[in-house]
Amino acid sequence: MTVFYEDFSKVIARHENELWRVNQEIHSHPELNFEEVHAHNTICDFLESVGYSVTRHAYGLKTSFEAEAGAGGGLITYNAEYDALPGIGHACGHNLIATSSLAAFIATAEAIQKNQIKGRVRLLGTPAEEGGGGKIELLKAGAYRGVDACLMGHPADRLLVGADGLVIVPSMALVGAKVTFHGKNAHAGNAPWLGQNALDAAVAAYTNISMLRQQVPPNQRIHAIISKGGDKPNIIPHLTEIELFMRAEAAADLQDMRQRLIACCEGAATAAGCTVEFSWLPNYKELRCSELIAARFLQHSQSQGLEYKKSITEGSGASTDQGNVSYELPSIHPVFSIDDGDASVGPHHPLFAKSAGTRLAFEASLKYAKVMAATGLDILLDKELREGLWAEYRKKFESQ
Ligand SMILES: [Zn+2]
Ligand SMILES: [Zn+2]
Repeated sequence: MTVFYEDFSKVIARHENELWRVNQEIHSHPELNFEEVHAHNTICDFLESVGYSVTRHAYGLKTSFEAEAGAGGGLITYNAEYDALPGIGHACGHNLIATSSLAAFIATAEAIQKNQIKGRVRLLGTPAEEGGGGKIELLKAGAYRGVDACLMGHPADRLLVGADGLVIVPSMALVGAKVTFHGKNAHAGNAPWLGQNALDAAVAAYTNISMLRQQVPPNQRIHAIISKGGDKPNIIPHLTEIELFMRAEAAADLQDMRQRLIACCEGAATAAGCTVEFSWLPNYKELRCSELIAARFLQHSQSQGLEYKKSITEGSGASTDQGNVSYELPSIHPVFSIDDGDASVGPHHPLFAKSAGTRLAFEASLKYAKVMAATGLDILLDKELREGLWAEYRKKFESQ
């Protein structure tokens, strides 16, 4: 395996300039859910320029793509995310996810070819992680059918992680909704009594939700914004909107929260004489990573001179649609540390967006790529390991 590792370093070093360019292109052109056209084109163009055939707009999604190398044997997929956040750009560092998975894909593909290994590796472009549930759409479209294992990684704050990375990261299940309140316009000065105030409904709902927050277990989260609050103070608003997320440790716990939240909004609408309508976002499940893949990953991180923690006891408050992938097949979603200076702000902060564009962060993503490629190659080389992954998976889900 050491031999492969040296090869990975050489392969990645050979492509480093282009990988840096791709990384910077994505970072400097932040694009939102399902609109990641520049990232999609940049990655696809690069893959084609180095000889891979690429399926653009894969599985019916405009900004997904797929590339595959190898033949026969097992099949592993690396997920590449590349979506950004409104207003704060690549503050989740998904440019680095794309870069690490792209580098791991090329390293694995070249190892397969050079050593005539029976097995296949895929790079799957997974758009819209930030609330759009791109991977849920891909799961529905069959993108993971026949795949033995799925690997990816996410950048994190070095000070918070306290090491080069963390292998098993808990994440929360998430339910999101857009709640629309419908009322009736009226002149706010002349005849406010003729209106039905949809802002009152939204404010009352927000207050109900805030009170509900005290009555839920400490490991559950609810957060909301009033995304539409009316047009002008002299018009009684006829239409307002709240966007909200609820999170719990397990997807099953969200059912009860959902009912209580519906009651908060319906009660508020009734009080204001309005009606309410719910539009539910795709549900994200919690991550249930493979311990067996994690153990291999940890071994390779050590042999590559990196210090990874195996797991943490306290949960992360974040959520990812990779959780849904982890419900369907053996997978991992470790985090690798990048440095955002003394601020220690973590993702979804403008300083993290700045850090995600540095050379140091890029180098961290390449180190991560080598560990991921070594882990991925293990899975392709070892049929017993692949069977073990599925035995572990079945045990985990059948014991529920
Ligand atoms: Zn994020
Ligand atoms: Zn993210």
